[in-house]
Amino acid sequence: MASLYKFSSLVSVKDFKEKITSTINNEDTCLERNVVDRLKISSEMDITQETLAELEDVCSPSNLKFEDEPTSDMDPTTKTTCFSQADLATLTAVSKKEGQNSDPRAKIFYSRNKNYIILSEQLRNAKTNNNDIIDGPEVVLSVALYHPVKLIKVQEFLVVGRQTLTELRDKIYCPADSIVVGEHSENPEFTTVTTAKDICPSGFIFIEGVFYNDTRNYLCRNYSKVIMEWTNEKHKGQQPRYGVCTSKKMEETKFEDLTIKLGYPYVYTHQGNCEHLLIFRDLRMLHGDDPQSVSNYPFPTFRPRPKRQRCMICSIYSARWLTRNDLLMSEDPSLFCESCFKSLHYKNNQKAYTFSAYQYSGHYYW
Ligand SMILES: [Zn+2]
Ligand SMILES: [Zn+2]
Repeated sequence: MASLYKFSSLVSVKDFKEKITSTINNEDTCLERNVVDRLKISSEMDITQETLAELEDVCSPSNLKFEDEPTSDMDPTTKTTCFSQADLATLTAVSKKEGQNSDPRAKIFYSRNKNYIILSEQLRNAKTNNNDIIDGPEVVLSVALYHPVKLIKVQEFLVVGRQTLTELRDKIYCPADSIVVGEHSENPEFTTVTTAKDICPSGFIFIEGVFYNDTRNYLCRNYSKVIMEWTNEKHKGQQPRYGVCTSKKMEETKFEDLTIKLGYPYVYTHQGNCEHLLIFRDLRMLHGDDPQSVSNYPFPTFRPRPKRQRCMICSIYSARWLTRNDLLMSEDPSLFCESCFKSLHYKNNQKAYTFSAYQYSGHYYW
């Protein structure tokens, strides 16, 4: 697995797929789960069908699980409760270690010790849509997206080669896209919500000298134009210092059309200057344990644990409003839940004094 600092040599996704499919048999790339030629196995092992069934039963990985086994995305406190109920000394030890039935401060510590969720359970249990089952060999890429400032991984997806880059872009969550635009202190009951993404749908992904611009919406601007003019400018009559860059349409480019370096930091830019590192962490063939429908992809496999910002007055409910130049508050900006915001700032449904108000999402992932 490639890390943030190590990367592979250039790999053409299409060439990789062709090389693999020409090397291995069709039988080996069979996508159906549990497709096993039982007769062939029993004759090769020289055992009867009954013995084979018994062997399957005894060696099944399900024997390693206990009843109500916790899932990976389960809350850690609930998980330790499940552990303590299992009749296994090792799991009882784990539950003791993690502070179950002991110090409540330890419980809080263990429930907060992971700020991310790996969605492996969802991956295993993904429902197959029979209308768009992936027929034949297909490649899967693992794409990670990083925080624009902290440089920590905030999302990771599995995508299949036949999908376009825009299909991934539409699944990427960034709070900068969901900001509700406008000052609403005069009309806090407004119903039409316009987000930053509605106004600025532009964006590009930069991979190996090519800007893939999203041009689906008539409001999209070509962010890459200025950068390309700058990079492609000849330096003292010589060739451009950073190589000649080109641009293509994001919605017309499939992942299998790309040539990439695994582990190399590429860039996804949107909302003007919100820049995320985008890293292809893995490239492999689709196998029987993967979700089998195209509509299952891009499949999220990693996301941060949700957080919430509380109201500064009651400290109970999530913040819904942000005010600026607020005479009643000592902090600027200030955050309020719906109820505290209205009771403090309005009298008989009229604005009681001067301030400006913006809608705020108290729930966020990062
Ligand atoms: Zn962003
Ligand atoms: Zn409140």
